Parts: sequence; structure tokens; C-alpha cells
Amino acid sequence: MTLSTTVIVVGAGPVGAVMALALRRRGLKVIVVEALEQPEIECRAASCHPPTVAMLEELGLLEFGLEQGLVSPVFNYLDRPSGELIARFDIRAMKTPPRHAYVLQWEQYKIAQTVVKLLSDDADAELRMSTRVVGLTQDADKVRAEVELPNGERETIAADFLVGCDGGRSTIRRLADIAFDGFTWPERFLKIDTIFDFQSLRSELSNRNYFADPDQWLNLFKARGPDGEGMWRAVSPTLPEQTDEYLLSPEQIEQRLQLFCPKPGPYRIATVALYKVHQRVAATFNKGRVLLAGDAAHVNNPVGGMGMNGGIHDAMNLAERLEAIARGAAHEALLDQYTRQMRVAQLNYVQAQSIQNKQTLGETDPAERKRKLDDIRATGADPERHDAFIRRACLIDSFHDSRAVA
Ligand SMILES: Cc1cc2nc3c(=O)[nH]c(=O)nc-3n(C[C@H](O)[C@H](O)[C@H](O)COP(=O)(O)OP(=O)(O)OC[C@H]3O[C@@H](n4cnc5c(N)ncnc54)[C@H](O)[C@@H]3O)c2cc1C
Repeated sequence: MTLSTTVIVVGAGPVGAVMALALRRRGLKVIVVEALEQPEIECRAASCHPPTVAMLEELGLLEFGLEQGLVSPVFNYLDRPSGELIARFDIRAMKTPPRHAYVLQWEQYKIAQTVVKLLSDDADAELRMSTRVVGLTQDADKVRAEVELPNGERETIAADFLVGCDGGRSTIRRLADIAFDGFTWPERFLKIDTIFDFQSLRSELSNRNYFADPDQWLNLFKARGPDGEGMWRAVSPTLPEQTDEYLLSPEQIEQRLQLFCPKPGPYRIATVALYKVHQRVAATFNKGRVLLAGDAAHVNNPVGGMGMNGGIHDAMNLAERLEAIARGAAHEALLDQYTRQMRVAQLNYVQAQSIQNKQTLGETDPAERKRKLDDIRATGADPERHDAFIRRACLIDSFHDSRAVA
């Protein structure tokens, strides 16, 4: 049954797409407004942690994810200078594993594209692509978004609620005048996508690997890629003084990969990109009838693959509340609790863990570096600590603990 409540979802990235589908699954009408013609094809996020996999299943997306993604039950910590495998974490080996005992490596653009295709066949989901939100007003009954159409004309769309899923530079957050406190890391992160199969040279690698190094730590993850043949994504830090021209030059990219994994012949590079990286959380995720979810509400460094996951957790939590409101519950208390729960998920888990992950990988003080690596080694070797580490790294604790917040 379709309910009479309509929600405008701004942004059809992975979080906006999932938000819209979750609302449709609960019977609310949606209007999705996306500035681009199609969801952007960019491989940033690829890791979906076990609680997120369960959410994808609830939405009927898991079969697409399994077809388009890679099942990855294991992640490794390695010491890059010595090559030592420090610890191996296997979700299947947990005493009480989650129902989906793996991380699903499913690229964010494939998630968004899959959902947009599903919504395009749904009469109660209106897709407004190539349309940008430029203004916002609200009163006790309605929220109104002023949008700029592809031909440059403007129009006002009214709805009961509006969810800003419009990314880290969120227009909605700015228009709603919500503070976004936190900090920006001085170094940028360089992402290199290559089809070279690192496992052919290093059989100890899994689909998800963290290399600690005081100079050039590295995250090395594998996704299925556009043609299903496999695409490896290497993320490493740069120095603040290094220019784009230098960092993105083919020679520098080649040198960086050869230094990490020497091999005969050059690497075949698919794409490279530089990212400015922040740790910020919005002061509130709800203001009247305007809500925030995903990067619009929080941003973090990508070590650990948590940003999109946190956004999908927001979307699922919020969809449940908006359904209750559509069925007659008072909205203020439920939406205030949404902010409380998802800020706990962010501050105590996603932000804390992603900062700790980055600091562990890049530790420069020799004594502290040894202490941190010894600690990871001991954690991997102790079954209880192994399980506790996975529960934190894979956002299992984050999901359960945030849901318990009153
Ligand atoms: C290198 C890297 C690797 C990462 N890996 C992972 C990972 O493995 N796992 C993970 O969980 N996270 C990861 N992340 C983080 C992840 O990419 C983001 O958290 C995720 O993209 C957030 O999704 P979103 O839908 O909230 O925002 P976005 O993906 O930024 O989408 C926002 C959408 O809103 C649209 N939009 C913007 N403004 C307007 C407007 N005014 N009107 C209409 N539309 C608008 C944009 O066009 C866009 O389509 C990674 C990030 C980086 C940089």
C-alpha cells in the first residue's frame, strides 16, 4: 500500500539511492533529485560490511550485489617494509559470526545504478535527473525545494520531508544552516585503480589488505570491476607540498606501485584520483522537516571503508522512522532520536575507528609503531580479541550500540 507521505531525496549517490528505495519498500512516495544525468561512475567505496549486507538483503539488493561484487571474508594487516603478514582477520572464524560472514566488495556506482534502474520502473518514485536543488524553505506542514532544471529554469517542489544525501559539500546542509565541525587531514590521499592481479605475485593477499608504513602506508582492495575481470584499488597518502601535476603523472604513479610491488613491465592503470580527506560530523541530522544522511551528515577518511556504510545505516534507520511518521507518529521525537543514534554511530565508531586505522597504518615513531603492530599481531592471535576487532572494524558494534540509544 502506498502511503500519502512524500519525501524528496536529494542526491542519487549510493546513500540517496538506498534511502529512496528503503522509503519505497516502506510505502512512501519519493522524488529523487540528482544534479547529474546518471549516478557518477567512480570507484570510491567498494566495501559493504556485514550489517550493511543484511540491509541490502532486506531491500532485495543482495542478489545484484553477489552477481556484481566479490565476497571477501578475510582482511589482512601487513608490515610494508618487511613484507610480514602481521594479522589475518577471518569473519567466518568468529565464535558467533554475523549471518553474512563476509564483506561484500560492491562498488558504490554499481549500487546506485542498480537502485536507480529499479526506481525507474516504479510509478511512485519520481526521478528528476540533471536537476539541482538550489533553495530550501519549510514551515510546520511542508518543505519546499527550489530546483534548477536542465534548461536553466527554476521550479519549486513541495513534500512532507526532504533528505539531503547530497554528499560532503552538501547544499542542503548549508541551506539548513547546520554546522559541520571537525578537521581536514593535511595530506591528500591518492587512489590508483589497476587491473594488475596482485595475488599472482603475492598469494598471501586477500581482497582487502592494509599495509602499515611510516612513509607510504597503503590500502589495497579488490573489486570485481566494470567488466567482471577484477579491479584493484590502491589508496596511499601524499605529502602536503606535492602538486597535482607531480602526483598524477604516469611516472610517479608507476614508481609508487613498483615501490610497493616490483614487477616486470609497467602497470596498466585504469584511473587515478586525489582526495582531500576530512573528519566531520553535522551538529544535527534533523532540522524540522529537513534531514541529512550519508556524507552530507558525516565524512571520514577511507581507511576501513566506513563512509558509505555509515550512510546506508543512516538511510535504513531513517526510513523506518519516516514510515512510522507517515502512519501517524509525531515526527519531532522520532527524528531527534535519529540524530542521537546516528551521531553515536559516527562519533563512537566510524570517526574513532577510521582515525585510529589511519594512525596505526601511518605511525612514524618507531617505538609507538612497534607497539601498535605488536598489538594488532596479538589481537589477530587471540580468538576473543580477533572477534572483538572484527565487530568494531566491520561496524557490527556500531549498528547494535547505536540502535540502543534512547
Ligand atoms: C578513495 C575512497 C575510498 C572509499 N572507500 C569506501 C569504502 O570502501 N566503503 C565505504 O563505506 N566508504 C568508502 N568511501 C566513502 C564513500 O565514497 C562515501 O562515503 C560515499 O560516496 C557517500 O555517499 P553519498 O551518497 O552520501 O554521497 P555522494 O557519493 O557524494 O553522492 C552525492 C550525490 O548528490 C548529488 N548532488 C550533490 N549536490 C546536489 C544538489 N544540490 N542537487 C541535487 N543533487 C546533488 C551528487 O551529484 C551525487 O550524485 C571511500 C571514499 C574514498 C575517497
